Formats: sequence, structure tokens, C-alpha cells
Amino acid sequence: MQTVSRILPVLMCLTMLSSCASDAEKAPAADPNEKNSGSVFAMDTYITVTAYGENGEKGISAATKEIERLEKLWSVTDEGSEIYAADHAGGAEISISGETAELIRFAEEMHSRTNGALDISLYPVLSAWGFTTGKYRVPDDDEIAQLLGRTGVDRIKLGDNKLTLPKDMEIDLGAVAKGCAGDKAAAALKESGVECALLDLGGNIQTVGETKPDGSKWKIGIRDPNGEGSAATLEIGEGVVITSGGYERFFEQDGEIYRHILDPKTGKPADSGLVSATAIGREGRYCDALSTSLYVLGEEGAEKLWRESGDFDMVLIADDGSVTITEGIEDSFSLTIPAELKVLRR
Ligand code: ADP
Ligand code: MG
Repeated sequence: MQTVSRILPVLMCLTMLSSCASDAEKAPAADPNEKNSGSVFAMDTYITVTAYGENGEKGISAATKEIERLEKLWSVTDEGSEIYAADHAGGAEISISGETAELIRFAEEMHSRTNGALDISLYPVLSAWGFTTGKYRVPDDDEIAQLLGRTGVDRIKLGDNKLTLPKDMEIDLGAVAKGCAGDKAAAALKESGVECALLDLGGNIQTVGETKPDGSKWKIGIRDPNGEGSAATLEIGEGVVITSGGYERFFEQDGEIYRHILDPKTGKPADSGLVSATAIGREGRYCDALSTSLYVLGEEGAEKLWRESGDFDMVLIADDGSVTITEGIEDSFSLTIPAELKVLRR
């Protein structure tokens, strides 16, 4: 996995007919008709930030810088990152920043809330399958059992600014880092005076502002796991829509398909009957953790977590083509493919 951090300054000024709804009240005189966007390749994906209003350029620059800063902090492959340092400390205690400690603590919390479905200590197992390098192979059961012995979130020793991993352990924040980067990039946009923006972090969607400049809601597509286009659309206010799908990274061997999200209980690709899981809520890091977990948990486990939590909505697409959504998004959700739709209610 290469760490590339290149800003592609695609700054475009497009003429819009109306200003951002909240902008319009405050500063209509400045330059409200502006739409800027910029892209950066970071966290192994293309990230695009689109910002409306006069502070757009400044906001985009702040947001992309923030994402690049976080990549340097949390990359598993960048030798200068805090995660790399932790993974290569040979069992010694290392100093880490407060924000890294906070994200690890959050991942530990989500590990327990999801009954172990989210596990940042799976890295040695993911490496054995080749999902970290692209050199794919199928490890045998003995190897997997031995590698699972090196995992276990409860073995992480975490203080406010100190981290100690057992010598044989490696962690990877891949399932939550992009979501958290989205939160911090959205905050950077707001601090720059942007009130209306859309962040696309390789399919993780995060919005700033309850509406688009024309006063309409943000329309987000949910990818069809079996095709090129979208399977559904969703209209949201300020929030996040994050999908984990087996179609994102996989390989085929001897007629079997192996997908990149692992079930921590088996050390093998999650085989829960879902082909994609989308979490919709207010916070990026939470929905990122959730989307991975829901995918591992499958329909039944996901429904249980949803009933226990009460602070997110979800879209589950099963391998038989059926779609399950939760009642909170019922009125803003439309299928764009023919499918059986089930709505979960409390
Ligand atoms: P993506 O980053 O591909 O959009 P996710 O947010 O679901 O998708 O994260 C998946 C990544 O997390 C994988 O590429 C892998 O590095 C790691 N991973 C795989 N399975 C798990 C798991 N059960 N818990 C935590 N991390 C996982
Ligand atoms: Mg995730």
C-alpha cells in the first residue's frame, strides 16, 4: 500500500443560481455563487471535497491538509506514522498523540459494542491473506489459528499518551480512519467559514450543511454491489453515509471469491450473507466502524445492534438481492434497482 499525498488543485468556479441557504442569511453580498472542488489521493483512495460559497478554496485547502496530516499519523505503512511506530516497537511503550489515543479507545469501545465484529488487531491475519499488499493467498486453518493468537484488542495497553502493544501484535485503523478523517475535515471546512460542502472519501460521504445551495437535501447514491451504478438513492441533511462492500477488494482462487472484510472470530472473509452494509448517521468515525461491523454481523446481528443503539440508520444488501432499511430513512430512500425491500421498525 503506497502512501501518496498529492494535492491535485482542481479549483473550479462555477456559477450557481442561488447561494447556500444559511449563507444567504448572513453574507449575501460577498460571493455566494461559488462552487469549488479539490481532490487528494490519501488513505489509499481518491478524496474529493466540494465546497460552496466564498470561503470554499480556503476550506478545501484546510480539509485536504487535515486529511494528509491524519494519514501521516495513522498509516500502517508510513514509517513516520504513530501506528507504524506502535506496530514495530517490539513490545516497548511508545508515546502517541491524544487524537491517536482517542481513536484507538473509540475502536476498543466499538469492539465491545459490536460483540467483537470490529477488531483493529486483525492486521497479521489481513496480511497473511494479502489484503494489505495485493499479494493474495489463502492461508490454511493452522496458520489462521496461529495468527488469531496474535490478535485481541484486550491486550492493547493504552494510556492518555502512551501505547504498548505485545511484541507479536500489530494494529491497523483502516476500518475507522477514513471516517474520522471525514469528521475532522468537515470541522476544518467549518472553521474556514464554509457552511455548505460535500466530502467524498472514496465512497464515504460526509456533508456540511443541512441543504445544498439551492435549498434541496443532499442526494447520495448507494452503490449497486452487483453492477456499476447505484442500487438506491438517499436524501440527507448534514451527516454521513458510509458503505462497506465485499466488492471493494477481493480475489478469486479455485473458483472461490475471498473478500477483504474478515470475521475476527474465524480469521476468514466474513460470510454473513450481506454484500454491502451502509451506516447513516451524524458522525463519520462511528458510521465507518458501523459499516464494517454490520457487514460482518449480517442481517440478524445488524438488526440487534440497531435496536440496541438507536442512533443510526442502515441499508443492508443481501447476496440474494434483497434490501433491508431502517424506518428512520424510509421517506428519504428510493430503490433504483428492482429488489425486495424490507423496513425494520422499532
Ligand atoms: P474500506 O476502507 O475498504 O472502504 P472498511 O471501512 O469497511 O472499508 O474497512 C475495511 C478495512 O478494515 C479492510 O481493508 C481491512 O484493512 C480492515 N478490516 C477488515 N476486516 C476488519 C474487521 N473485522 N475489523 C476491523 N478492521 C477490519
Ligand atoms: Mg469501515
